Amino acid sequence: MYIDVIGVDGSKQFGCNLCSMLLGKSVLLDAGSASMLSAQQQQKVEMVLLTHAHLDHVLELGFMIDATVTIRDEPLRVMGSKACLEIIQKHYMNDLIWPDFSHIKTSSGPALVYENIEDRKWFELPGGITAWAEPVCHGSGARGFLFRSNTGSILHTGDTGPTYSIWKKASEMDDLKMVIAEISFPDQKTDVAIASNHLTPSLLEKELEKLNKPDVPVYAFHLKPWERHEIEKDVARRFSDRIVILRRGDRLEF
Ligand SMILES: [Zn+2]
Ligand SMILES: [Zn+2]
Repeated sequence: MYIDVIGVDGSKQFGCNLCSMLLGKSVLLDAGSASMLSAQQQQKVEMVLLTHAHLDHVLELGFMIDATVTIRDEPLRVMGSKACLEIIQKHYMNDLIWPDFSHIKTSSGPALVYENIEDRKWFELPGGITAWAEPVCHGSGARGFLFRSNTGSILHTGDTGPTYSIWKKASEMDDLKMVIAEISFPDQKTDVAIASNHLTPSLLEKELEKLNKPDVPVYAFHLKPWERHEIEKDVARRFSDRIVILRRGDRLEF
């Protein structure tokens, strides 16, 4: 199995792409940059799996369903925590900000269906992956995920401040191949990171002490674009080569 990185930036500026990663061809993890996919790629996405309802993770969900509603054979499945999906239905796809596509009928049923995640239980995703959702410390119904294919598993923290249970669960995985973890701010902005439930390189270093796998590689995403330079310096100083900062176009195999 593989992950294609579509966008990894933690905010929007010229030349930046908000969070979206493709798990194989059928699952899009977060929809911040869904429109960066070609129409053909978007059509093949069966499910959008959301970490949480913040705008940088859901922004282009509305454009994606708009662009593919007439060419889909099946409804687009939008999966997230109950709280996350309620926020989207109430404040985004509500017939005010954007059409409620779950009420738009096509020849194959509704254009879009919402599916609540059950926390802390393995569930099947299209394309032969299983997933585990774990609440993390970020608000807006935020979840991190473990993904498992028949060759290994990975941890994706989603957006989170310091947390515990997801590291405990990842520590139980004998076949953990990598960690994809957020870093949003540099060490000198630790107060902002804590206040907004995000991580800095130094906070991530402490989080990784909760994971009993010192050799598993770590890939960082969600850097605030205007802090990238400072974060890169902190990462180089603290981690030597254990942490790689992800870029659009990267492919991770697991
Ligand atoms: Zn967030
Ligand atoms: Zn975010």
